[in-house]
Amino acid sequence: MRIARFTTGEEPQFGVVTGEVDEFGQPADDSVVVALAGDPLYVGIKLLEEQHRLADVRLLAPVLPRSKVVGIGRNYAAHAAEMDSDVPDEPLMFLKPNTSVVGPGDPIFYPRQTQELHFEGELALVIGRICRDVPPEQATDVIFGYTIGNDVTARDLQRSDVQFTRAKGFDSFCPLGPWIETDLDPHDFAEGRAVQTHLNGDLKQDGSTRDLIFDIPTLVAHVSSVMTLLPGDVILTGTPAGVGPMEVGDEVEVSIAGLGTLTNPVKAR
Ligand code: MG
Repeated sequence: MRIARFTTGEEPQFGVVTGEVDEFGQPADDSVVVALAGDPLYVGIKLLEEQHRLADVRLLAPVLPRSKVVGIGRNYAAHAAEMDSDVPDEPLMFLKPNTSVVGPGDPIFYPRQTQELHFEGELALVIGRICRDVPPEQATDVIFGYTIGNDVTARDLQRSDVQFTRAKGFDSFCPLGPWIETDLDPHDFAEGRAVQTHLNGDLKQDGSTRDLIFDIPTLVAHVSSVMTLLPGDVILTGTPAGVGPMEVGDEVEVSIAGLGTLTNPVKAR
């Protein structure tokens, strides 16, 4: 099931995106969004009569994390190598504030404090229930679903600041979407799902989730051994090789097979 959050110009609502999808998870032109009563993270899936053509609604970030977005650094060996870094011995965690989250089509704003704004296309997982100390074999029980994230990073500030708060934390530095797919599980990603980033139509990142150093159950176990996870919290699983700069006026697209495409323009702040 594909859970979206959308607006028709009125209050945001949640809905289920129906219809066929192609191999990259792109929906057919006649797809519809069936509205849901309330937030499915809290009240479950309650379908309403109300429907809209997908083409007639504006999609929003499919989840608004109540507490946190947890980033994982250097979780693909080829990306660690391009950063001249070693692969970490255990998952390298950082936080992005929930105020960095924006939705499909929303601008990524280029801050005046950086001269090196980078895209990082990533698989994101959405936590479905309050949990801590989750054993790896129970990770599936606490994952609501999967979406696409762009872990936007001010690379020069990441180098100069020692820690990542500013470099990863600006408003609009965490595009999420286009929806949450609830029917996949960690095995699907361990077998390999293409993660691709295009900048103005040019392929820049071409990775596979099979190359995750620490797999999804390991990440959930590791993060939840440190901090309680709440419904709607997001874990970004790390980016494959090929990160690079964006400029004002660019359009960045992150695609993951089965999850669709997350597209955002870059604008001046
Ligand atoms: Mg990243």
